Amino acid sequence: MVKRKKSNIKLHQDTLAVHAGVKPDMETGAVMTPIYATSTFAHKSPGEHSGFEYSRSQNPTRSVLENSLAELEEGKKAFAFSSGVAAQSAVLELLKPGDHIIAFDDLYGGTFRLFNEIKAKSSGITITYMDLNKNINKEIKKNTRLIWIESPTNPLLKITDLKRIARIAKKNKILTVCDNTFATPINQKPLNFGIDIVNHSLTKYINGHSDVIGGCLVIGNNRSLEKKFALIQNSIGSVPSPFDCFLVLRGIKTLGLRIKKHNENGLKIARFLKQHKKVIKITYPGLPNHPQKEIARKQMSGFGGMITFLYDGNLSQIKTFMKKLKLFTIAESLGGVESLIESPALMTHAYLDSSNQNQSIPKNLIRISAGIEDADDLINDLKQALK
Ligand code: PLP
Repeated sequence: MVKRKKSNIKLHQDTLAVHAGVKPDMETGAVMTPIYATSTFAHKSPGEHSGFEYSRSQNPTRSVLENSLAELEEGKKAFAFSSGVAAQSAVLELLKPGDHIIAFDDLYGGTFRLFNEIKAKSSGITITYMDLNKNINKEIKKNTRLIWIESPTNPLLKITDLKRIARIAKKNKILTVCDNTFATPINQKPLNFGIDIVNHSLTKYINGHSDVIGGCLVIGNNRSLEKKFALIQNSIGSVPSPFDCFLVLRGIKTLGLRIKKHNENGLKIARFLKQHKKVIKITYPGLPNHPQKEIARKQMSGFGGMITFLYDGNLSQIKTFMKKLKLFTIAESLGGVESLIESPALMTHAYLDSSNQNQSIPKNLIRISAGIEDADDLINDLKQALK
């Protein structure tokens, strides 16, 4: 249950997803937020306007999306961006040359690429990658400004204790960021564990229909961060179009329903794969063999639709298996209504191999994004392809 700040009433997640941040349009009463496709807004007289001047700075459709995201994460303020990595890049703009980041050693491949290929070179920041379940205190330096978390991580589905990291960071005056893309605010709300900044690729579960690229940052009551992100968002200008904001708002309406089904399908498929002889090792936060299952239970209310497993076979056999699937599409991305399958080493995390930085992703690792189809149909498809 989530307490709504304005009305003080408590709502279940499904209700919140439908109503978060959204009110009928003031001008017309339109129930769905209109797409304000305009680059600029009329002033009554020079400098006198209705709060909207220019769509890079503020746009009414984007404002509703930002209010919705803030309410879903139980935060105060959200900032929408044109992609998940654009939002991540905005966080890195908080840093100065010479600053240091501690980051999880398993992250989305594009986040590694942004850190190593762009920001380390253009901004002179340094990064220590580590398993955040180990002793973080040992890696904290005088110039450490940020701890970068993904939980669950992409693709190894590692989980870390958000409350513990937030506590250590606060003691050392370090900001924390949690990429909450895999969990979504339905399954996990990092701000409630003391995390400073939540990051999402809206491209994934939040939009949920594989037709938008988008990202966001959500923060709690932190006036200084709010001012900095407003300045960064407006100055850098990597903002989403009003049409994309509208699509994400539409996707959010069913977020509660969809995540329930993703959670259900994820667990059923993981249980099926666990007993299959072609599967060497399965990772799913909701299974009893997950190394951080206790932490997962403590901070998550569901375990999502992402599953990874090691296939007993070589690369050519893996390709044959994947090509035999009829319902799963071989594709990057995740979190859509349709089930996807991919090889991280060859696809989403190929950057790590190409730059000789792959220390942990085996070639026979397969990642599944379980959609919202019937679980039995998905399992039957896997069964025939694994034969
Ligand atoms: N974070 C995670 C966990 C992701 O999986 C991705 C993309 O796959 C991103 C961030 C980047 O998001 P986008 O592709 O919207 O830039």
